[in-house]
Amino acid sequence: MKKMFPLVGIAVLALFAGGTVRAQEEISLVAPGGIQAAIEALIPGFEHTSPYKVKATFGSGLGTKKQVADGVPFDVPIIQPPYPEVLDSGHVVVSSATPLARVAVGVAVRTGQKKPDISTPAKVRALLLSVKSFSYPDPSGGAAAGVSFTKTLQDMGIYEQVKPKIHLSRGGAAAMEAVAKNEVEIGLTFYSEILTEKGVEAVGVLPESISPRTSLVAFVSTHAKNPEAANVLVRYLSSPEAASTYRKVGMEPAPPPAAKPAPSKTARLYVLDCGMLNIDPEGVARYHVTQKEVVESRMPVPCFLVVHPNGTLLWDTGTIPDADVERAAPRPALYDVNPVSHAVVSKTLKSQLAALGYAPADITYVAISHAHKDHTANLNQFAASTWLVRPIEREFMFRPGNERVEPKFYNQLERAKWIDISKDESKDAEYDVFRDGTVVIKAAPGHTPGHEVLVLNLAKSGRIMVAGDLYHYPPERTFARRPPDNEFNVEQSAASRAMIEEYLKKTKATIWIQHDYRTITGLKKAPAFYE
Ligand SMILES: [Zn+2]
Repeated sequence: MKKMFPLVGIAVLALFAGGTVRAQEEISLVAPGGIQAAIEALIPGFEHTSPYKVKATFGSGLGTKKQVADGVPFDVPIIQPPYPEVLDSGHVVVSSATPLARVAVGVAVRTGQKKPDISTPAKVRALLLSVKSFSYPDPSGGAAAGVSFTKTLQDMGIYEQVKPKIHLSRGGAAAMEAVAKNEVEIGLTFYSEILTEKGVEAVGVLPESISPRTSLVAFVSTHAKNPEAANVLVRYLSSPEAASTYRKVGMEPAPPPAAKPAPSKTARLYVLDCGMLNIDPEGVARYHVTQKEVVESRMPVPCFLVVHPNGTLLWDTGTIPDADVERAAPRPALYDVNPVSHAVVSKTLKSQLAALGYAPADITYVAISHAHKDHTANLNQFAASTWLVRPIEREFMFRPGNERVEPKFYNQLERAKWIDISKDESKDAEYDVFRDGTVVIKAAPGHTPGHEVLVLNLAKSGRIMVAGDLYHYPPERTFARRPPDNEFNVEQSAASRAMIEEYLKKTKATIWIQHDYRTITGLKKAPAFYE
């Protein structure tokens, strides 16, 4: 020990001499125990290569999620899906969601014991039925590994049968300790937690078909003391360097996002599937058309991605938030937009964007035809994009007591960067998004105060108008029926329809009524595109 002191003294002096000693800014992080070993291994490298320090707190999977949803201020929360309550809470920046790694539930035996075969669901089942006892983390304490494994036992239909042999522990480490002390024959917890414990050896992980992997997703908190610092940490935790650490501790790093497509030389339009609305007969009548006239009463809900050499524009964001779609999988998610209109969604918007190589953070501009629920469900994911909107619609969206909108779909946009497109538009109430006439947003108010349509002038496909809810069913247009009585302003809608018809005639643009079954189901869908 005596020899240590002078060394420490020299080190401190050297730091002072170099002028590098200063109060380091601290980033607080909270994460479940399943990723603890990895985070602890990664922090020194991060602190070494950045000006920041990290203060990490670890808890159970459900406990961590609850803390974040309750607003306990951590700069970087890491949580496990599904987490709709966290997204709804407004305490995380939704668009910052960054998958880090996945972890599997593994089996452990006491060091030196024979390792059983767990390579197939049948072998796992036989093992659990044959052992005298086994330990795993208590799900009632919020342990995600415990919640996941209990579900595995239930899905295999053996939960009641093996219940007497279950030894529930407080957390993964305690479950492993019971194995090491020979209190139980085998133990189960997240594979990454097995590897760090003494006296036990990992056998392997359960087959994915009976034990879905648990993902860990990092966010930047909306209350981050220094959002840029929090971003730097999230980027580090999802870097290739971090990936090798995840592998070392028995986790599977999240795949890097698909390579971005080369920027296109001309504008491209992708049609995305954001669901379908089943409309009751009373719902059809509201548009002053009959079931016989419309033939098909279902209304598709498309979303559109425009890729332009100078940026991207997302037009409309679907009818059910991605988090709810993920939670319902493999079944489709259901949502009643109103008493006569029932949404069914089976694909997330973000997975469709990811398949094209885009993350929400890559979307330059977001715009909506109007603020109704079936067009705004995923707006919160695009809080980092620039929102192109008319102030009259924005005000309508945040007005208290407005029944036809769902503010929790877009509450994060209240703080987002936005452009008042009415200020900069021409006398024809058009806003030229990329300043070259290829992508224009045109006011067509009435359905809502700031309802608008998108007009594309594409090199090969020509002019296409994506018409929002100017009409819902084509017979409204062909028979020139009066707009629905529940429009925000019926007279204004009628005037917008007349103005748009004039425009279509003049420009020879093709109109796509966004909810028209025939039109939308007939379009080529992403990854195909119109250019
Ligand atoms: Zn609609």
